[in-house]
Amino acid sequence: MSNPFWSPALSQLEPYVPGEQPRGRKLIKLNTNENPYRPSLRALEVLADPQLADALRRYPDPESTDLCAVIAEQFGVDTEQVFVGNGSDEVLAHSFYSFFRRDEPLLFPDITYSFYPVYCQLYGIGYRTPALRDDFSIAVADYAGPAAGVILPNPNAPTGRYLPLAEIEQLLQLQPERVVAIDEAYIDFGGDSAVSLIDRYPNLLVIRTLSKSHALAGLRLGYALGQAHLIEGLDRTKNSFNSYPIDSVAQRLGAAAISDSAWLEESSGKVIATRERTAEALRALDFDVVPSKANFLLARPRAIGAKALYLALRERGILVRYFDKPRIGDYLRISIGTDAEMDQLLASCREIQTAPDASQTRGQEPL
Ligand SMILES: *Cc1c(COP(=O)(O)O)cnc(C)c1O
Repeated sequence: MSNPFWSPALSQLEPYVPGEQPRGRKLIKLNTNENPYRPSLRALEVLADPQLADALRRYPDPESTDLCAVIAEQFGVDTEQVFVGNGSDEVLAHSFYSFFRRDEPLLFPDITYSFYPVYCQLYGIGYRTPALRDDFSIAVADYAGPAAGVILPNPNAPTGRYLPLAEIEQLLQLQPERVVAIDEAYIDFGGDSAVSLIDRYPNLLVIRTLSKSHALAGLRLGYALGQAHLIEGLDRTKNSFNSYPIDSVAQRLGAAAISDSAWLEESSGKVIATRERTAEALRALDFDVVPSKANFLLARPRAIGAKALYLALRERGILVRYFDKPRIGDYLRISIGTDAEMDQLLASCREIQTAPDASQTRGQEPL
């Protein structure tokens, strides 16, 4: 791509392509890991607060003080250990700029969140991508040696595999001089957070979002937890970029959502139960299903090619994610919806697989 008005660096960028957000058509949307449940009512009540009008007239609190205090209390840390951003994508971008722009390469898995290489390109960061094992687990020992730092999601995306905290500690010990960022976008669906390790590891940064487990993807709110010196670094970058990233609505609504632990526990519990049931049912339909502690499943249909199944589901109004990429091209990533939505997905898979021409649409599997 090029354009005479674009800077040379801009012409080189290959932007991230998010999952499709279809307009109009009523689809069962299982392609971007959104939460199928309505957000906390306690959070939504903020929208009816008459004081909001006056708050919107003014600039928001640039430091999101009250929101940071609520997050700090929720996790039992100091407010100086909390940073908030406009979606965790912004927190990630600031983290890359703040900690990973170094001579050595940044390390992240070969199969992971595909925004990471995009930030690397934006900020001119070199990277190395140690391969996941064949079962998609992370081989922690591969993250030793000279590096600008390490970043990985836990659970990983799009595999859903979870790395136990003992192995996160090994990572932190392998790179004591560099930031190890753990992207916990999906941690509320059954994993243990690394936040408990923050006081012992000055190099640990935990990044989280309200987009998945809090059902607030439209609010755009994410945060990071780490020792004060790391948070101070993120503040320097933020205040060199946008001093008011969190709008007044998001600050209030986010604080109310985070303090509603009962809502989180109940809705995550439902998602986990539906995930386990769906994984079982997919295995019964001859899918290989990667063990997941996220709100999605990575699954390989053995009876039909992944792309053919993706297209056939789409025709039936069900959207899942297909990645035309090495190692995962035979898989689909299926977000966990309501029980009714998953029943429709399963029924459609069954129907498509038993259709007379299903065998002709097989992928690489020899007949
Ligand atoms: C969804 C996702 C994010 C982005 O979350 P936002 O807060 O909506 O920007 C970050 N990391 C991973 C691994 C994700 O899947």
